[in-house]
Amino acid sequence: MRELVFATNNQYKAEEVGNLLSGQYKVLSLKAIGCDEDIPETGSTFAENAALKSKYVFEHFSLNCFGDDSGLQIDALNDEPGIFSARYSGSRNDKENLDFVLQKMLGVSNRNARFTTVICLYQGGQNYFFEGSVEGTIRAVPVGDKGFGYDPIFQPNGYAITFAEMTTEQKNQISHRAIAMKKLITFLKGQPSS
Ligand code: IMP
Repeated sequence: MRELVFATNNQYKAEEVGNLLSGQYKVLSLKAIGCDEDIPETGSTFAENAALKSKYVFEHFSLNCFGDDSGLQIDALNDEPGIFSARYSGSRNDKENLDFVLQKMLGVSNRNARFTTVICLYQGGQNYFFEGSVEGTIRAVPVGDKGFGYDPIFQPNGYAITFAEMTTEQKNQISHRAIAMKKLITFLKGQPSS
């Protein structure tokens, strides 16, 4: 079976995609290929960072690979935190980053925001990009204890609850990451098997 690396340290993410592609691709995490590097994310866009991850794996391990990068973009903050979502407050602590956003949004009436994921697949010497976004608004106060990151303050359009109040299954139906992953999977399934 063909092998494909998912440039993530998140075993859960790798397994989830692996299940969706089972029978067609064996999906390997960074750990599975013996890569314990924290691949530098020095790009200025989600796409550049996703491409850096897949390129790194190809250059060091000669394996086809895809990488992803995600973040929250808030209209009133000129699309910040964006690529800095994981460390917006200067720390990698989810709660501190969320509080930092809420502080910046104090008294701001335009609460529109979106989560975006870009996946870059490096295959046969070429980059292929897949993007997913979900539009929503930023709540004034965090609600919910599920999920991670900015989930407690993000309410997707068409819902009266935040991402942190949704079950994993519910969030996976509509999330930015799920949309981008579905596009990648459709692309891979359309390829002739060898
Ligand atoms: P990553 O590229 O998937 O690691 O995401 C980078 C950062 O964006 C995370 O550390 C979170 O702060 C934020 N983020 C991305 N996706 C989500 C999500 O689904 N919910 C909440 N925060 C997210």
